[in-house]
Amino acid sequence: MNATSAHAETDANLCARLSAHVRDVPDFPRAGVLFKDITPLLANAQAFRDCVDALAAPWLGAGIHAVCGIEARGFIFGAALAHALGAGFVPLRKGGKLPAATRGADFQLEYGQARLEVHADAMAPGARALIVDDVLATGGTLLAAFELVQSLGVQVAGASVVVELDFLHGRARWPTGMPLHSLLRY
Ligand code: AMP
Repeated sequence: MNATSAHAETDANLCARLSAHVRDVPDFPRAGVLFKDITPLLANAQAFRDCVDALAAPWLGAGIHAVCGIEARGFIFGAALAHALGAGFVPLRKGGKLPAATRGADFQLEYGQARLEVHADAMAPGARALIVDDVLATGGTLLAAFELVQSLGVQVAGASVVVELDFLHGRARWPTGMPLHSLLRY
């Protein structure tokens, strides 16, 4: 476990404290998957606040205009992060959910296809965007989000996730040199 917050001396403590609120659920949603359930962390006032503060720390003063949260749990952290950074919030939704004109990206999940969509006019060209999700697993979702946001002519500043599953090597699919911060690594 590791952290990338601005307060190096408290990283180990912070990670241990936050990690205590992430519940492992074996064999969900399928046999063989160890699901990282962040709902206990959300339900704990101190842990949720500290988690959002730690997610925000690397991006304070980075000129982020928009936080792009990935449906669904990326909305929760993304919206809180947007508030902390004084940025707007842009939902990256599953296919067919957004009402106005969209752009979309299809990608492969472990089982089957998935699609993310964003409103075509959600961000002005040249805006600086931060992508946020709860868990980085194999990396397909985060990469699709990156390509989708970039296709709007927006500058992607990087991404932040709460949990990174190191053993699935999702980070290897993320563009080289592009910042990717994770709070808790397993
Ligand atoms: P991936 O595209 O494989 O990186 O999967 C990331 C997406 O799937 C994120 O939106 C996560 O919410 C979800 N996800 C994948 N694996 C897990 C897991 N083991 N525990 C919790 N969420 C997961």
